[in-house]
Amino acid sequence: MSYVDEIYERVVRENPSQPEFHQAVREVLDSLRVVIERNEEKYRREALLERITMPERQLLFRVPWVDDKGQVQVNNAFRVQFNSAIGPYKGGLRLHPSVNLGIIKFLGFEQIFKNSLTGLPIGGGKGGSDFDPKGKSDREVMAFCQSFMTELHKYIGADVDVPAGDIGTGAREIGFMYGQYKRLTGKYEGVLTGKGLSYGGSLARTQATGYGLLYLTEEMLRCNGHDIAGKTVAVSGAGNVAIYAIEKAQQMGAKVVTASDSTGWVYDADGIDVALLKEIKEVKRARLTEYAAARPNCEYHAGRGVFTVKCDVALPCATQNELQIEDAKALVANGCIAVAEGANMPTTLEATDYLREHGVLFAPGKAANAGGVATSALEMSQNSMRLSWTFEEVDQKLKGIMVGIFHNIDNAAREYGMEGNYVAGANIAGFLKVADAMMAQGVV
Ligand code: NDP
Repeated sequence: MSYVDEIYERVVRENPSQPEFHQAVREVLDSLRVVIERNEEKYRREALLERITMPERQLLFRVPWVDDKGQVQVNNAFRVQFNSAIGPYKGGLRLHPSVNLGIIKFLGFEQIFKNSLTGLPIGGGKGGSDFDPKGKSDREVMAFCQSFMTELHKYIGADVDVPAGDIGTGAREIGFMYGQYKRLTGKYEGVLTGKGLSYGGSLARTQATGYGLLYLTEEMLRCNGHDIAGKTVAVSGAGNVAIYAIEKAQQMGAKVVTASDSTGWVYDADGIDVALLKEIKEVKRARLTEYAAARPNCEYHAGRGVFTVKCDVALPCATQNELQIEDAKALVANGCIAVAEGANMPTTLEATDYLREHGVLFAPGKAANAGGVATSALEMSQNSMRLSWTFEEVDQKLKGIMVGIFHNIDNAAREYGMEGNYVAGANIAGFLKVADAMMAQGVV
């Protein structure tokens, strides 16, 4: 059996009931087959694949907190410190009822390669809890965040592990966590990113993932003879990534016709009104039905189906495995030319294969959504230097990083004889740097 297949079997055997983690490992290992085969003996001797698929450390802890009725609640929480070969662990904290160890491990594993692709010195990690901030009062969210940080602070630090936001963890949650970290340690340091502007946050961090997604998508289209201007775009999600992807796509002259949340999706023939969407999602924290009610030519559909609309470009920006085989078939049938992932692993392996086999340009999340973590790393640099760059400075650096990532993955795919396969290109380019650093640092 090949080394790659042996390792995949071992991962499945040793990590039962973690299908998302298996899926993420499968995708990466399949892409690496050609790289590993060129140097199989060396990688085997170093147990490189065993080490890269096994987290350096996994923290599991309980988070007790008191709700507004005086009832004690308890949540499960996780921080997976996956790989520190090229820098301190870096990756978001997800607060969502679906969170479990397998989800955090898939996200942490992906993060290693994404962070490597940014070209910045950051390792891979991820964390979170099955706590659901939806429907909770601000006081309850604060009680949870303070209790969560009371345990987590022992394991993180500006040069050790720097968590950030993710699904369910926005500016409010980061603020509460940062306050508790400072209180417990007495240190005012860049231990979290996604902070508010008044206490060490970076301009353009809020916009970074969505904007970065469009910078990379624009470059991918341009290099394949297309222009983003004038294209019809379908976006899923209505959170941080989706909102700023919509905003930047519109600034680039595209027309975005959809958005979705966990209950349904909207089709707005006039183009999404992004100011209204922000008001409903960022301020009122309400459902998309409110958006549809306020727009004359907008249809609301309950449930799934956002990618069944006619579009040139699809940007899945909600959650893992939302773009499935029937969605991929609908996109191809409707003439879609490009899919770029704003979310982490939103496309199933089957759907990814179908899109690629039908000539759809496909940018994987670990490259396409790396703008968020790249700007987080820029926030860390600003915190270390005790200064703040302007919005334009950060945005320019972000654009340079995203265009650079596209060419890096494009070149890696070409070098290994897989021109246009950006999934393979991203996995290979991300892997080579980390593998080199791991081997240089010996058996640790
Ligand atoms: P938000 O919490 O701001 O928004 C998430 C959006 O996705 C919401 O519209 C939410 O709907 C929807 N959603 C969440 N879970 C589900 C589900 N199970 N089924 C259908 N819809 C769902 O998160 P972000 O925008 O920050 O993150 C979105 C994706 O992007 C995630 O995969 C995240 O890991 C990834 N990402 C985020 C980065 C960032 O900087 N924020 C950086 C890189 C990747 P509802 O409001 O109903 O819950």
